[in-house]
Amino acid sequence: MKLVRFSEGGAAGQAGLLVGDKVVPVAALVPDAPADTCDLIAAWDRIAPKLARAAEAPGIPLAKVRLLAPVPRPEKIMAIGLNYADHIAESAGAGVVTPKDQVWFAKMPSSINGPFDPVEHPKVTEKLDYEVELVAVIGKGGRHIRREDAARHVFGYAVGNDVSVRDWQLRTHQWVLGKSFDTHAVIGPAIVTADEIGDPHGRAIKCFVNGELRQNSNTGHLVFNVWDQIVELSQVMTLKPGDIIFTGTPGGVGLAMQPPQFLRPGDVMRCEIEGLGAIENTVVAEG
Ligand code: ZN
Repeated sequence: MKLVRFSEGGAAGQAGLLVGDKVVPVAALVPDAPADTCDLIAAWDRIAPKLARAAEAPGIPLAKVRLLAPVPRPEKIMAIGLNYADHIAESAGAGVVTPKDQVWFAKMPSSINGPFDPVEHPKVTEKLDYEVELVAVIGKGGRHIRREDAARHVFGYAVGNDVSVRDWQLRTHQWVLGKSFDTHAVIGPAIVTADEIGDPHGRAIKCFVNGELRQNSNTGHLVFNVWDQIVELSQVMTLKPGDIIFTGTPGGVGLAMQPPQFLRPGDVMRCEIEGLGAIENTVVAEG
């Protein structure tokens, strides 16, 4: 299934299932389904069988709704750095080598943004950049998750853009501020449930800027794969339904181009992953 959040005619967002080119409100099939997406994911085993009729149910044409971030208020957004060999290689000039340990940072939940919404170009930077990433959404929470169990803790997958403010990211050891500007955690267009995806590794992943192909890789090239990441994170924190994991970006970021190419207002970023769809966001000046 493809879980989305959408709003129709300016109404408040609600959960829906994307079926072909229609959206079926979850509440139309399961009136007592939790309104909050994290609660809905937590209750999924009870809800999912009742959603099986979605294909036959009446829906709203996709063209008539606005798709929102499928998880609007995750408790956590964690993101891993330097996790594709080609991205490590292009960063080598900065003294970067393949890490022995997973390099984690957080993006604040307040940075979440919808799949087709504007991305702010902050007033305080001239070094705005894109990063297409496979995003894993936690389903069953847990602590000290074993590697052989990790796949069963994933609710589903989405396309992400880990928008990055490079000068703020790199001027200290800590990346959190440079990764947490408002609107800079883009996810969507839907969460494709894990049962439809199976193994998420081995999928084409691409990012275009104004139609120019900038990043072009495969999720099979992750240094630490999704299961490794869940094991590592869950040693530290209790993972919860709806938690978001950005699993790393491949080579081709604007920072590494010669000369570097940073985003300007009006630029259009398109990120896509085979089987998960595409997200497209226009850069707009802050305020
Ligand atoms: Zn990233």
